[in-house]
Amino acid sequence: MSERVRVRFAPSPTGHLHVGGARTALYNWLFARHHGGTFILRIEDTDVERSTEESVEAILESLRWLGLDWDEEPYRQAGRLSIYQEYAEQLLKVDKAYRCYCTPEELEERRKEALQTGRSPRYDGRCRDGRPEPGKPFALRLRVSDEGVTVVEDLIHGEVGFDHAELDDFIVVRSGGLPTYNFAVVIDDALLQVTHVIRGDDHLSNTPKQIQVYRALNFPLPRFAHIPLILGPDRTRLSKRHGATAVLAYRELGYLPEAMVNYLVRLGWSHGDQEIFSREELVRYFDIARVGNTPAIFDQAKLNWLNAHFLREADPKRLADLLVSFYRQAGIAANEIEAKAGDWSNSGRAGTFGEAVIQTFRERAKTVEELAQASLFLFRVPIDYDGQAVETHLQPAALTHLREICDRLQRVNRFDASPLEKLYRDFVAEKGLKLGDVAQPTRVALTGRSVSPPVFHVMELVGREICLERLGTVLERTVG
Ligand code: GLU
Repeated sequence: MSERVRVRFAPSPTGHLHVGGARTALYNWLFARHHGGTFILRIEDTDVERSTEESVEAILESLRWLGLDWDEEPYRQAGRLSIYQEYAEQLLKVDKAYRCYCTPEELEERRKEALQTGRSPRYDGRCRDGRPEPGKPFALRLRVSDEGVTVVEDLIHGEVGFDHAELDDFIVVRSGGLPTYNFAVVIDDALLQVTHVIRGDDHLSNTPKQIQVYRALNFPLPRFAHIPLILGPDRTRLSKRHGATAVLAYRELGYLPEAMVNYLVRLGWSHGDQEIFSREELVRYFDIARVGNTPAIFDQAKLNWLNAHFLREADPKRLADLLVSFYRQAGIAANEIEAKAGDWSNSGRAGTFGEAVIQTFRERAKTVEELAQASLFLFRVPIDYDGQAVETHLQPAALTHLREICDRLQRVNRFDASPLEKLYRDFVAEKGLKLGDVAQPTRVALTGRSVSPPVFHVMELVGREICLERLGTVLERTVG
C-alpha cells in the first residue's frame, strides 16, 4: 500500500465496550499495525444525553486491557462542534444543503400517512425550495438527487448499490445545532485523513448517505470495509441474553486478554487452519480482504478452549498477581494471602506460593477465576464435602489409618511433596495397604472431593497447620 494508512475506531460512549465493538477496534488496530500506519481513537460524544465519562473510561480501559494502543490523543466530537458548523455553513452557501422548518410532529404525521397509503416514509422534500423563515427553528438537510444509484465499493462486501429512491434529503444538522452522525463522521474522517473506514456492517446502509456528504464537500472518498455482525448461537444479534457481552466482564470472569484477542480475531477472519496466534503473527498475517462476508457466531466453548490454552502458556508470575485479586473477591483477607505467601518463601522453597498454585492447578482450569475457586480450599475456608466422596473414602478403616498418619504428619521434618509422599509410601508398605487407601481419604478430608491435583502437592500448598486441622475435624466428626 503506497499511501500512509490511517484508520480509526469511533465508539459512542453510551455504555460498555462490547464484544462486537472490540472486534472492530481490533481489526482497525491490526490493519494499522500490519501496514505501519496510524490507529486513531475518536469518541463520538455528540449525544450529550446518553454519553458519559464513565463509558469513555470503560472503553479506554477495555482497549488498554486488550493491548490496542492508539497513536494520537483521542479526538472528541463534542470538542469539534465549531468545525461541523463551519462545514454546514459551507454547504448552505453553495446550496448543497437547505433549511428545513418542518417540526418533528409534522414529520411524524406525514411519515405515518405515507406508510398508511403505501408510499415510502422518506422526507418529501417540502422545504427544498422554500424561503428563509426568520426566527423559526430549522434543521439542515442535504440535497440528495432523487435519481441514480450510489455504489459503495466495500472491501468485504464488494459493490453494493443503493437506489436513490431509498435515500432522502437527510438531516445533517439538527435544529438545536448538533450535527447528525452521518455528517460529523464524514467531516472527521476527511479532516483526520482516514484512508480506510472499517466498522460494523450495521453501518453499511449509512454509507451511501455519507458518500453524498463527501461529494457535496469535494472530499476524497476513503476505502470502506464493513465487518459482518456477531450473532449468538441462536443466530440472533449477540446480546445480554447470550451471556456476557461487555469486554471488561470477561476480565472479571478471569479471561486473559491474549485469549480474548485471539478469539475475537477469528470471529470473521482466518489464516489457513491456524487457530492460535501470537500477537506478532496476527500483525504479520492480518488482511482485511480475508474477512468473510457472513455473520460470525459467538462460541463460548471455543473462547474457553483458547483461554485454557493461554492459561497454560502464560507466565506464572503474572497469573499469580491476577489470582490474588480473585482470592480477594472470593473473600480471602489480604493478610491471610500474605501470611501464606510469607510462610512459603520463609521455608526456602523456589518460586512463590502463587506461582506454585498456578503450576499445580492450571491444567484443570479454563479461567483464572475458576482456578481461584478450585484452589480456595488452600485457605482456611469452610469445606463443602461431597457426600458421595465422604461415603466412599471416609469409612472407619480409612479413618483409623488417617489417625496414625496425622501423628506422623506432625513429626515430618519438611512438609514438602516428596517427603510427604515418602511418608505415605512407608506407611502403606508397613501396613500392607495400597497408596490409594490413605491418599484418597486424605484428599477428601482436605478438599472435600475425590478429584484434585496430585495430593502431595496439594498437601504442601495447604500447609501443615491447615492439613492437621482439617484431618482432625474429619476424624472428630466422623468417628465421633
Ligand atoms: N459511533 C459510531 C458507532 O459507535 C461509529 C460508526 C463508525 O465507525 O462510523 O457505531
